[in-house]
Amino acid sequence: MYAFDYHQPKSVDEAAQMLGAKPEPKLLAGGMSLLPTLKLRLAQYTDLVDLSAIDSIKGIERDGDALVIGAMTRHVEVATSDTVKRAIPALTTLAGGIGDPLVRNRGTMGGSIANADPAADYPSAVLGLGATVITDKRQIAGDDFFKGLFETALEPGEIVMAVRYPVPLQAAYIKYPNPASRFALVGVFVARTAAGVRVAVTGAGPCVFRLTDAEALLAKNFSAAALENFTVKPDGLNADIHATAEYRAHAVAVMLKRAVAAAGGNT
Ligand SMILES: Cc1cc2nc3c(=O)[nH]c(=O)nc-3n(C[C@H](O)[C@H](O)[C@H](O)COP(=O)(O)OP(=O)(O)OC[C@H]3O[C@@H](n4cnc5c(N)ncnc54)[C@H](O)[C@@H]3O)c2cc1C
Repeated sequence: MYAFDYHQPKSVDEAAQMLGAKPEPKLLAGGMSLLPTLKLRLAQYTDLVDLSAIDSIKGIERDGDALVIGAMTRHVEVATSDTVKRAIPALTTLAGGIGDPLVRNRGTMGGSIANADPAADYPSAVLGLGATVITDKRQIAGDDFFKGLFETALEPGEIVMAVRYPVPLQAAYIKYPNPASRFALVGVFVARTAAGVRVAVTGAGPCVFRLTDAEALLAKNFSAAALENFTVKPDGLNADIHATAEYRAHAVAVMLKRAVAAAGGNT
């Protein structure tokens, strides 16, 4: 690890000021993705700005037809929250399936979406529910947030404060986890909302994406049966030591059917 200065601001304003004043600063949340990178000397920053003492960006709240989850809320808190379970049980499943207990005890929702790992689980919920990312500068629609491999719409120095997840009529998240890390080899989040059906896929491409042809089929008939002949083309999907693009394409269709059934879609 290269040397850096460590800071623990008590407010978002203080954190933002630090980010603006330091030469090469970096936000630190749960550290589950950032610290391994630093330990391997794959990155170097002059200053780490730790968000863990800022209470205003922690916690889970039901706000009308949405669930608002603070950026510094740990995965374990989402997985064990009664409020989440009542409003969006698919998020309970998603958070409870992330990594292992250590990762869930340290990792945060905001860190996960800001990191935008192509195999991360939360991006599929942000896109699949049509959520809104609230930063210290603006609100970003889930459809506009994920831009590519480890790339988001966040500007340098912009801080994710919370995500507003609309409560769906029906939703489910099913993933085929890598047996070692539990990251999604393929994960599918499906939601039926008042505005229509949304399907978001993680793990299969450079970043999370929507499956609009499946959404059109499910809008007519929200059931696994509607997807009987549905297939996914492997073009552009990830191929690595874990799975070929063809394998992932097949897995997406299988996980999608399971997700619709789990969401309570007519069979
Ligand atoms: C062994 C292992 C297994 C894992 N398995 C899974 C899995 O199955 N599914 C899954 O989804 N993830 C998995 N993860 C990743 C885990 O969910 C991390 O919690 C997540 O990637 C990063 O969150 P963090 O809070 O640790 O962020 P950090 O590592 O602290 O930060 C990650 C990045 O986000 C930035 N950042 C953090 N917070 C903010 C913010 N509020 N605003 C703006 N930028 C911010 C940081 O500057 C950094 O660039 C795994 C990780 C490990 C180590």
